[in-house]
Amino acid sequence: MNRAPVPSPTPSQADLDTLSLQLGRPVRDVVEIPSRCICGNPLVAATSPRLSNGIPFPTTFYLTHPTLTGAVSRLEAAGVMVEMTERLSQDAHLAEQYRQAHEKYLEERERIRKKAGVDPVWEIEGITAGGMPNRVKCLHVLAGHALAAGPGINPLGDQTLDMISPEWTPDTCTCETAWDHSAEVPAKDLSRHVRRLEEREAS
Ligand SMILES: [Zn+2]
Repeated sequence: MNRAPVPSPTPSQADLDTLSLQLGRPVRDVVEIPSRCICGNPLVAATSPRLSNGIPFPTTFYLTHPTLTGAVSRLEAAGVMVEMTERLSQDAHLAEQYRQAHEKYLEERERIRKKAGVDPVWEIEGITAGGMPNRVKCLHVLAGHALAAGPGINPLGDQTLDMISPEWTPDTCTCETAWDHSAEVPAKDLSRHVRRLEEREAS
């Protein structure tokens, strides 16, 4: 946990192992680590828009750090998504900024796609995640995008990060207690999400 910050966005094997421990399942098709804790551990994983098993994956920026995912889940449980969606319908400036965040998300996904060396993913063309561009459906997506893009790109992602500041800020490292560092790195793919997608594909 006292590693020096790693400047390269390209994930090392240690990064991939940390992601798997953070999520409790093996990660795959991670192309970059777009945001890191001050200690160097990943906060967000950038995943190829088409997984190696062929499944399209629209959520390019995936929030992985348990302190952040837990804090954001509590915001969601408190109804923040409904409140934000209402504000989008009332605040034209905010709505425009949010629409631009959607465009930036698509641009960055295109860059990640090229870096991953995969063909254009027609299934998710123009589609981002988290409810963008008109609604708010997942604060984890917005927070992950805000961390990956930096402040001033995704207004509702920035606000989500502000709202979790009692539990996490960019200046604090909670890694030591946020997940079990001595656990065995998950090796089998037990992701329910991926299993469900594979079942859907097979049916
Ligand atoms: Zn840390």
